[in-house]
Amino acid sequence: MENTNPLSKTHPCFDKEAKGKYARVHIPVAPKCNVQCGYCNRKYDCVNESRPGVTSSILTPQQSLQYIKAISQKIDNISTIGIAGPGDAFAEPEKTFEAIRLIKDEFPDKIFCLSSNGLNLLPYVDQIAELDVTHVTITINSFRLETLAKIYNWARFNKKMYRGIAAAELMLEQQTEALKALVAKNITVKINTVLIPGVNDTEIEEVAQIIGELGAATMNCIPLIPTEDTEFSDLEKPSSQLVRDSYRAVRKHIKPMTHCSRCRADAAGMLGNDNIDAYKLIEEYAAM
Ligand code: SF4
Ligand code: SF4
Repeated sequence: MENTNPLSKTHPCFDKEAKGKYARVHIPVAPKCNVQCGYCNRKYDCVNESRPGVTSSILTPQQSLQYIKAISQKIDNISTIGIAGPGDAFAEPEKTFEAIRLIKDEFPDKIFCLSSNGLNLLPYVDQIAELDVTHVTITINSFRLETLAKIYNWARFNKKMYRGIAAAELMLEQQTEALKALVAKNITVKINTVLIPGVNDTEIEEVAQIIGELGAATMNCIPLIPTEDTEFSDLEKPSSQLVRDSYRAVRKHIKPMTHCSRCRADAAGMLGNDNIDAYKLIEEYAAM
């Protein structure tokens, strides 16, 4: 399905042409997570949407508004404000929504963008639509329970802990229903899939086909970065050939995102050319 949201033309992740013209700013207001992925060491960062480098600081919603005001003076052409961790945007949804409300009041013309593992997203789809969040990313790594059980060590949902196949079933159901509900609200959805050799590398085309049928706009295959102190630390990085083959498989069913920069949760600026002054600025505002 073609992504017809005209705003995507100015979102640097959803449109390759926009990459060199428009900047994005991530606000690190979501430190907690409600699942444990086998590739993530939270001492570093969220591998869903970032390279494994620490976010310089965590901001409260109020601090994030002040930070956006300041960074807007330093970076031109900011089209998009996103929440991409370092944990999950819906582990503490009240913080996420407060930050969006505060910033939206002052910057109504920006695109608002959220990224999530999809576990606790479905209950908030109406709120997301009411706040005019137009772009959402969900990480979906597989549609097979046995694979998901290898990827998710545990998941916490409605104050209950799930492990093994029970966690896999929960993730699969919540992610799929969230995707359908977002599409039904005309929200543009990108799917991130972490390409994990020996775990889900033979399922990439299947994921592309299913999410394409469910109405996602684009798919971003993120090659695993084996990270210390994680279950997948001993796995090989995907080879260039595997990455190329995966893009080819995706392209048969859905537009692939081929320009992801695996940004930090506090990234600011053009994709691939982050403004490193932003990290210092975040530290200043986090200390206020
Ligand atoms: Fe880490 Fe993100 Fe997975 Fe949570 S959803 S465990 S922060 S990669
Ligand atoms: Fe865009 Fe990828 Fe960076 Fe997320 S991690 S902001 S999808 S380029």
